[in-house]
Amino acid sequence: MDSTVEAPQDVIPARLLQGQKALVTGANSGIGKATAIALGGAGADVVVNYVTGREVAEKVVEEIASFGVRAAAYEADVSQEDQVVAMMDRMVQEFGTIDVLVANAGMQRDARFTEMTLAQWQKVLDVNLTGQFLCAQEATKEFRRRGVVPEVSRSAGKIICMSSVHQLIPWAGHVNYASSKGGVQMMMQTLAQELAPEKIRVNAVAPGAIKTPINREAWETPEAQKDLLKLIPYGRIGDPDDIANAVVALASDLMDYVVGTTLYVDGGMTLFPGFATGG
Ligand code: NAD
Repeated sequence: MDSTVEAPQDVIPARLLQGQKALVTGANSGIGKATAIALGGAGADVVVNYVTGREVAEKVVEEIASFGVRAAAYEADVSQEDQVVAMMDRMVQEFGTIDVLVANAGMQRDARFTEMTLAQWQKVLDVNLTGQFLCAQEATKEFRRRGVVPEVSRSAGKIICMSSVHQLIPWAGHVNYASSKGGVQMMMQTLAQELAPEKIRVNAVAPGAIKTPINREAWETPEAQKDLLKLIPYGRIGDPDDIANAVVALASDLMDYVVGTTLYVDGGMTLFPGFATGG
């Protein structure tokens, strides 16, 4: 290997998101936490939204601040309009604006179809779908007010919806969750179509199986891991950083022409691995 070959740092700046302000919902656990930290590492100032667990959120803030950027933890339930409006108002007041929204907060309330209560159905739709709608709406108002600032980014704002492979793969025993993510897909594409003329980029990341508290029983025991790996051609379960890195890239101007796309980050889970040896 030629030792004089330089690493591509002068092509891809280390601080891809320098000067941008990002809000990550559900950022004190799992994918949201890793994403908030990665955005800070890429030079963005970051608001860490949480609904419970203030201390953990403050730890995430400390970690982000160690990169020399600004960070703060804001409490808000993303399914409550007044709380989302107040969170965004506070962000504009304290951080000046918002450039990147990562609508990540999500949950599961699993049950077989006829055992699922209306409350379980409604709660998951409220958080996973309506929560993204409310946050995207408030962020869009600010993107529109501020417009493009070319020194900061080529677009007026970026919305990244955290979806799931279950926007595509049906999931027995999880009809509320799969329906919410199917809804996220169509919401994302519709917003992308509606907002692109205003230079607002809307996209989604669809994780496969990522090791976080939301799906602990799927990876906690060796038997569960073995079963799960059958569904992943790439042969490993994902880490939160796999998703965080994809979000940073998608939020940056490197992806300025990517509009209305879902980036599957799933080790090939959506490649129908059951068909690899037959079908
Ligand atoms: P997680 O349980 O670790 O994190 C979810 C976060 O959302 C937590 O911080 C939680 O407090 C927060 N949250 C829940 N309800 C909220 C509300 N009403 N308001 C604000 N925050 C709220 O799970 P995760 O795996 O990190 O999930 C993050 C996102 O990724 C979710 O949207 C989930 O559907 C999606 N996802 C995860 C996986 C996976 O394998 N882990 C796969 C596909 C998609």
